[in-house]
Amino acid sequence: MSEFPPRAALSLYDPFDGMRFGMRHCFLCGTPTTPPQDTIPVFAEWLMQRYNLHERQIKLLDMSIVQYQQLRIACCAHCRTQHVAPLEARVEAAATEGIAGFRRLDEQTLFLWLGKMFYGILVTELLNELDPLARPQYPLAENALLLRRFQAFFQPLQALRVPMEYDDFTPGSVFILETDPREDTMPFEYDDDLSTIAFSIKLDSTVLVACLVDNGIIQQAMRRVYQDAYRPLHPVQIAEFKARVYYAAYLLNIIPDYYPRAVKPGDTEVILDTLIDDINTAIFNPWENSGYAQSLLEMWKKWQIPLDEIMRNPAEPLTFLYDADGQPQLLEQFPKKAGGIR
Ligand SMILES: [Zn+2]
Repeated sequence: MSEFPPRAALSLYDPFDGMRFGMRHCFLCGTPTTPPQDTIPVFAEWLMQRYNLHERQIKLLDMSIVQYQQLRIACCAHCRTQHVAPLEARVEAAATEGIAGFRRLDEQTLFLWLGKMFYGILVTELLNELDPLARPQYPLAENALLLRRFQAFFQPLQALRVPMEYDDFTPGSVFILETDPREDTMPFEYDDDLSTIAFSIKLDSTVLVACLVDNGIIQQAMRRVYQDAYRPLHPVQIAEFKARVYYAAYLLNIIPDYYPRAVKPGDTEVILDTLIDDINTAIFNPWENSGYAQSLLEMWKKWQIPLDEIMRNPAEPLTFLYDADGQPQLLEQFPKKAGGIR
C-alpha cells in the first residue's frame, strides 16, 4: 500500500500543514509528484500559444527574470487531466468568442481560472525567496498578512478539484472590462499585486481585473463605477479602473474565514461557508487621495502622466472615466498635448 493513498474526492487538502509548496507535491491534492513531468504551466499552453508568451520575459520580485514557459507548478496526472485540463478547455472555448464568451462563464470558473494563475505566480515568488541567492526587496514570506490572505484564498480555490458550492457568497471580485480597439496596441498584458491578492490579465479586448480574497466586497463597493464602465473603454480608462481596484484591495482591512461543512455519507459536494469575523474593524481603511494617486501614477506609467497633473485638484484626482460633470466620459483618443488633460 502506498504511503499516500489517493485523497478522497470530498476531502480538502492543506498545503500549509508542513508548507508543502515545492515541486514534489501536487498543488491541488498533495500527492507526491516528480518534476518535470508532473507539472503544469502557470499560464496555460493555449494561452502561451495564442499570445506568443513562451519566451516572453517576466520580472519577479527579486528582479530576476524568467520566461513565461518556465513558470510551472507541481500537479499530479490525475488533477492535471481531470481538473485542470477541463477548466482550461472551458476558458479556452469561451476566449474564442471574446468578451461575450467571458461574460457567459460562471463566476466559479472565472475565479478558479484566475486563481490558478495567481497561485502559480505567488508560489513561484515564495519558492524563489527560499533560494539563498535571491534577495527580494520586500520578502513575501515575512508578510504575515499576505500569508493569512493566501491561506484563506486556498480554501475556495480547492473547488478546482473538489466539487464545492460557496454558500451565498463569491470568494473574489472579478471585473470584466472591454477595451476600445482604436488605441489599443496590447493583445496581452498581465500584472498583479501579490500582497493584496489583486490580479489583472488582458486577452485581446477583454480585461479581467480581480481581487481574489475579498468575498466580493470590492465589487459591491465599486458597483456604480463598474456599471458606468460597461462599455468599450480607452486603455487609459481601463488603467484607471485597475488603479481603483488595486487601491481598494490595498485598503481592504478584513480577511474572510472559510468553513467547510462536515461531509455526510451520500454528499456529492462540499459546502463552504464564510464568515467575516472582525466586526470591530472597518472593512476598508480610509480612502486617501494621495494614496490613490500613487496607484494611478503606477497604472498610468505608459502615458507618463506626472503626479502633479494627477493631483492638480487634490480633492479630486485626475479621471478619464468621468467628465467634469461626473458623467461617464467617452474617450476615443488620449489627449496628446499637455494641457489637453483636464
Ligand atoms: Zn493532484
